[in-house]
Amino acid sequence: MSTVQPESGSDGILSGRTAVITGASRGIGKTVAKLFADCGADLAIVGRSKSSLELVLQEIHRPGGKVLPVTCDVTDPAQVQRMAEEVGTQLGPVHILVNNAGESGSHKFIQHSDELWHRMLAMNLTSVYYVSKAFVPAMVEKKWGRIINIASVASRLGSSYLSAYTASKHGVLGLTRALAAELLPFDITVNAVCPGYVDTPMTQGNISRIAERTGRTEEQVRAAIVSTTPQRRLVTPEEVAAMALFLTRDASRPITGQALNLDGGMGTFY
Ligand code: NDP
Repeated sequence: MSTVQPESGSDGILSGRTAVITGASRGIGKTVAKLFADCGADLAIVGRSKSSLELVLQEIHRPGGKVLPVTCDVTDPAQVQRMAEEVGTQLGPVHILVNNAGESGSHKFIQHSDELWHRMLAMNLTSVYYVSKAFVPAMVEKKWGRIINIASVASRLGSSYLSAYTASKHGVLGLTRALAAELLPFDITVNAVCPGYVDTPMTQGNISRIAERTGRTEEQVRAAIVSTTPQRRLVTPEEVAAMALFLTRDASRPITGQALNLDGGMGTFY
């Protein structure tokens, strides 16, 4: 996997800013955290596993800056509240929130369990509500904020066996647009990034599960997934992180309530 390189001229563009990134212990969230740290932000990195966050901390080079690992299950409102209080005490007001933590899950609709339905909604949608609710008041007070929700191509399109995940990610777009409208007077933008398949541990886990279920090799499954993408490649976490960074910039101020596809054209071309 390539290392994260801030585009030239982006050094220090986030200095003086504090960002919270959920799901920062691996995959997209970890890559966003490393890029934002390289660009000078103070950070809270959030996930459920303390040991995983500690490992990420070791990879982040932020001389003179602050990086705070906070364990929190974002589906639990009490834990989210405690996490927000700890971030406020240690880092002060938060300017940038990246709602990235998420989980995928698939099943045939006919045998779909209610448990999977509720877990997908809690994990991918209600968590965005809880975490945003915890940090929006300080942004409103400061009259500045950037909220970036990592949604999905599944926020745009339907796909077999993914009813709960798809419903949850469509919900993220609804929340993004409604919140963006409500926060317009406070110079707070709210946007969603909608990646296609990204080369992360989540995708690798899905590949392994499909291989196990179908008897194909992981290489065959990966190749089959890649073949469904117009660009014949997976999106990289670095590309998602670069878009998240762009959405924090002053130049992105007019962009709000939007859903930006990073999917190599999935759903656009046929
Ligand atoms: P990974 O599975 O690689 O990472 C998920 C992260 O979320 C981990 O840091 C995990 O840490 C954290 N997390 C999971 N559950 C919780 C929880 N209840 N509370 C707090 N943190 C949690 O996923 P990706 O990086 O691939 O995905 C990130 C986001 O991007 C997700 O929202 C996903 O839906 C979305 N996305 C991913 C795509 C892909 O192809 N990979 C495509 C489109 C969208 P821990 O387990 O330690 O808590």
